[in-house]
Amino acid sequence: MKHITIMNVPFLNTDHHSFVYLLNKRIQQKEKTFVVTANPEVVMKAQEDLHFMQQLQQATYIVADGIGIVKAAKILKQPLPERVTGYDTMIDLLKLAEKNHYRIFLLGAQEETLQRAITNIQNQFPNIEIVGCKDGYFNLESNDITDHIVQLQPDITFVALGCPRQENWIANNLSKFNHGLLMGVGGSFDVIAG
Ligand code: UDP
Repeated sequence: MKHITIMNVPFLNTDHHSFVYLLNKRIQQKEKTFVVTANPEVVMKAQEDLHFMQQLQQATYIVADGIGIVKAAKILKQPLPERVTGYDTMIDLLKLAEKNHYRIFLLGAQEETLQRAITNIQNQFPNIEIVGCKDGYFNLESNDITDHIVQLQPDITFVALGCPRQENWIANNLSKFNHGLLMGVGGSFDVIAG
C-alpha cells in the first residue's frame, strides 16, 4: 500500500532511507516537491481547520514525523515502517546537497539563530552551496520575499516557520516555483544552531 490514511491525512508508506532516496531523485529530475512532515498535532489541526487540511492535501508527500502517527497506523492495522522526521531528512539532504552541488535556501527562525545554523552547516558541510537565507519574521503575505527566493532557483528550500505557518507559506507560494523541493522543518534551525 502506497499510502496509509489517518483521519483523512494520507501518509506515504515509506522508511527514512527510501524517502531520502526518492527526494534526491526528484531533485535531480528537477521535479517540484512539497513535503510535509506531520506529527499528531498537525493531524489534529487539520481536523479543526478545513483550509489547513486542503493545504496539506496539496503536498506531494506527507510523512509520519512522530511516534504517535506510527502507533496510530499500527492500531489501524496499516503499519508504517518508522518515523520520518523533518530534522533527520534535512540533515541527509544537506549531505546530498554538498555532494551534488544543490542550491540551498534557508527560510525561517530568528536572524541570530539562522546565522548560527548556517555557520554550523558550513562547518559540517564545507562545500555546501547556500544561495540565500531570510529570517522568519516578515509579513508572510509578502511577494517580494517569494520572488527573491524563486529568482535564486534553489534546489531545496527549508522552511522553518513552525506549524502551520510553514505549510501555509509553502502552499500559498508553491505555484511560483518552477522546480525544487520545499519542506517545512519546524524547529530544526534552532537544533542545528545549538
Ligand atoms: N518562527 C518563525 N517565524 C514565526 C514564528 C516562528 O520563523 O513567525 C520560527 C521560530 O523562530 C523557530 C521555528 O519557527 O525557529 C519553530 O518555531 P516554534 O517552535 O514556535 O514552532 P512550532 O513548535 O509551533 O512548530
